[in-house]
Amino acid sequence: MPLFRTRATARPIAGIDSAHRPDTLRLALAFVLLVVAVILSLEGWRLWRDYHRTYELAQVTVSNLTRATSQHAEDAIREVDGLTAGISERLLGDGLANMNVPRLQALLKQQVGIMPQLSGLFVFGADGRLLVSSLDHPRADANNADREYFIYHRDHPGLNLHVGPVITGRQSGQLVIPISRRMNNPDGSFAGVFLGTLSVSYFLNYYDGFKVDEHSVFALALSDGTLLARRPFDMSLVGKSLAGSALFRQYLPLAPEGLAEARSVIDGTERLYSYRTLTGYPLVVDAGLARDSVLRPWYRDLARTLIVLGGLLLGLALLARVLLRQLRARQLIEDQLRDAHHALQEMALQDSLTGLGNRRRLDQRLPEEIARAQRTGEALALVMLDIDHFKRFNDCYGHPAGDACLRQVAEAIKGVLKRPSDLAVRYGGEEITVLLPGTDAAGACQMAEDILQAIRDLRIEHREHPEGYVTASAGVHACVPAQAPCSAASLLKAADAALYLAKHSGRDRWRMAGIDGLFSPAR
Ligand code: GH3
Ligand code: MG
Ligand code: MG
Repeated sequence: MPLFRTRATARPIAGIDSAHRPDTLRLALAFVLLVVAVILSLEGWRLWRDYHRTYELAQVTVSNLTRATSQHAEDAIREVDGLTAGISERLLGDGLANMNVPRLQALLKQQVGIMPQLSGLFVFGADGRLLVSSLDHPRADANNADREYFIYHRDHPGLNLHVGPVITGRQSGQLVIPISRRMNNPDGSFAGVFLGTLSVSYFLNYYDGFKVDEHSVFALALSDGTLLARRPFDMSLVGKSLAGSALFRQYLPLAPEGLAEARSVIDGTERLYSYRTLTGYPLVVDAGLARDSVLRPWYRDLARTLIVLGGLLLGLALLARVLLRQLRARQLIEDQLRDAHHALQEMALQDSLTGLGNRRRLDQRLPEEIARAQRTGEALALVMLDIDHFKRFNDCYGHPAGDACLRQVAEAIKGVLKRPSDLAVRYGGEEITVLLPGTDAAGACQMAEDILQAIRDLRIEHREHPEGYVTASAGVHACVPAQAPCSAASLLKAADAALYLAKHSGRDRWRMAGIDGLFSPAR
């Protein structure tokens, strides 16, 4: 099968339709961009969702930690509260002066042994002197009248439990939280203090039991912000005030329990905190997970995703580049093929001597113009020209001079044709046919006369011609195809007949065959 057709019915080569090429490119690019956009939005959505899930999970975790530690602290203190209330009641009922010291000491020791949170139990008289304790060998001169809890109870008549800041036990040397209760004489006067000491290590050991990383914290503090126990433990922090922290300044005044995102006043770490005020006692517990620790798995996932996405996008970009290059190369080949095709088509329809169209071009155009005229109702005309005594011209001046004459005549004809739709073709040896779409009989006769005059005006010498210069004869035929059906052959035949008439009526003139017989110009 030939690559392309040169006949009037030739169609573009498959895939060389230039109007569709940019669409193919755009479509390919749009598809790649769409794929990229879909991947990015899906991954973005997944990362956003995972971020929130991670954070929500951390909130639940930290809330559970606080719930557990607050319950633990509350239970530990409540037990001591109940114990001190019961024993001090018994002591006051019997009268401090009448107490059985060995029996009471044994009881206190027994209670300390039972309750792991207890470091010691102590009874002080109104002057601060130690009356009895859980210790095996108490110092005889022990006097705690200078301690915060003693001064507090001496100066406050209330019988409620008092929790004080952390102290170092004078005999045990341990860090303890003092939990104390005032004892009154029957007349209401100050009789002394009943003290239970909670070991700080009891809380620290409990906090150590949770599986959390080293950046997580647990803290137990008085409601005024004084720190009692903190994990990770740091001796220098004992007794430090947290009153200036965001938790105590912003969150606790608003709600007794909740979640807080804040930077630690102790180590400057950003944490997600959960805090809770104990229900029965003036204490606050909090647990905090470092923001970085919480989000670490998410950050890892983010990094992995970015690497994979980066690779994928790079791959897609390379693919798009290769695709574009191939499309451009194909485009180039298609352009070259199309240009060659058009050039060949032009060559196939052109007369090489005169530059006019050739007979094939007329064969292609004439049926098209007839069909168009049939649709539009317009007129259509043909002027068939033939150079007079051209054989003699050749004989006289030689064939090359004949060729030059033909070229000049062709140029003269081109000069007369004004409309883009007018077409002049070299129909045969020295015959030139002019197709005049949209031209009626009068217009066609005028055109024929103009052409003949233009040829005369060339004044090409022709010694063997009666006029002495080159002339031509023309046959004109005009019709309205919508009114009288016609074909290319019938039109050509009619124009040829008119040309024959022109020749036989003396040459250098035009004739037209019409319905009414012959229409002849004045000449
Ligand atoms: P008439 O007035 O009746 O047309 O006489 P004529 O001599 O022109 O008629 P005829 O058709 O017998 O001769 C045509 C001549 O045109 C024959 C040939 O020598 C010449 N001819 C045809 N084609 C070419 C061409 O391409 N170049 C040249 N130089 N001459 C050509
Ligand atoms: Mg001829
Ligand atoms: Mg001739």
